[in-house]
Amino acid sequence: MGLKEKLFEKLESKEEQMVEMRRHLHQNPELSFEEEKTARYIEDFYQGKEVKMTTNVGNGHGIIVEIEGKGPGQTIGLRADFDALPIQEAADVPFKSQNDGVMHACGHDAHTAYLLSLGESLIELKEEWNGRIKLIHQHAEEVPPGGAKSIVESGILDDLDEVYGIHVFPMMDVGTIGLIEGNSMAGRSNFDLTIQGSGGHGAMPHTTRDALVAGSYFVAEAQTIVSRHMDPMDSVVVSVTAFDAPGGYNVIQDKVTLRGTVRYLEAENKVPAYEAMKKITEGIERSFDVQCTLDYVYDYPVTYNHPKETRQVEQILDQSKGDYIKEIIHPRPASGSEDFAYYLTKTPGTFIHVGSRPEGVEIPYPNHHPKFEVHEDALLVCAKTLGEVALNRLEV
Ligand code: MN
Repeated sequence: MGLKEKLFEKLESKEEQMVEMRRHLHQNPELSFEEEKTARYIEDFYQGKEVKMTTNVGNGHGIIVEIEGKGPGQTIGLRADFDALPIQEAADVPFKSQNDGVMHACGHDAHTAYLLSLGESLIELKEEWNGRIKLIHQHAEEVPPGGAKSIVESGILDDLDEVYGIHVFPMMDVGTIGLIEGNSMAGRSNFDLTIQGSGGHGAMPHTTRDALVAGSYFVAEAQTIVSRHMDPMDSVVVSVTAFDAPGGYNVIQDKVTLRGTVRYLEAENKVPAYEAMKKITEGIERSFDVQCTLDYVYDYPVTYNHPKETRQVEQILDQSKGDYIKEIIHPRPASGSEDFAYYLTKTPGTFIHVGSRPEGVEIPYPNHHPKFEVHEDALLVCAKTLGEVALNRLEV
């Protein structure tokens, strides 16, 4: 029996365990940077196993588990995130979240469960492969600045030759794998804008410097960043997502605050998008005699899937078509963002999309929805996918 078959046999025998662990994690979700119990659960799992484990990596509860193969070879990183979201679960499942207002609504419970079982299987087979595997159990994917950046900056992954990760997506069927070469998920910047004017009576606006009207012009003008500053062939999003201007019927407030996000599929647009917004606020300062404070933060980079590694993964997975993989598709890039992008800025690799459409559902609830669900058959698919990729990249 080949090594791949041995690995698959192990993974199949652990399917029930994967599902159990996923349900446990699902019932006990924790918010980003607060994943104490989740981290302990993961650490306990590796206790007594022949690995080198480093805990509290980066700016939170990150865990790196190192498995040594029988001889020298490549070092491959496999990453799963483990934080949950501030959402009240509304899905009708028997293993519903027990933490009020917190929910695994992005499938990170599934990511963690399959990587634990895959990790365990790779440990059990470590006398049969060469090189080293670093399992990256990552905290805080959902909240900026995220966990990935700090893990990369800690230097613990400096020796990685390649890095791979998976995300489950319910829009795709179980057995469908999505691979995107190059820019696959958007980079993002977030901003807060405070406009300071001068308040007064609603009946005498000429005696005020009305920050609310200035803010309204900002909202409208911000739309021209995409339509008039960016190449129409590029993909950029500018969304103002908060506009706070509390006043009464007859009161014009001193100041207003706005907030929003900018997404870009081409890294080259990161700075120009900021510069365009800066110019708009400068214009508004002059025309309305107000003061604008723009707090603009460059956040997650564009997720760039390295072409060579992405094609390699496709060749590897092609061999399992007709087995656990039904089809490999090449979806369009997404305007969502992922801090897996940070690993890829330093190490070649690719971020693999795995279908997890719940049974009998035509239009599934999307990630981050209170009724988001994961088809549990996707767990074994995830484990086999990343396991197969890892074995191929290590010298056997
Ligand atoms: Mn996610």
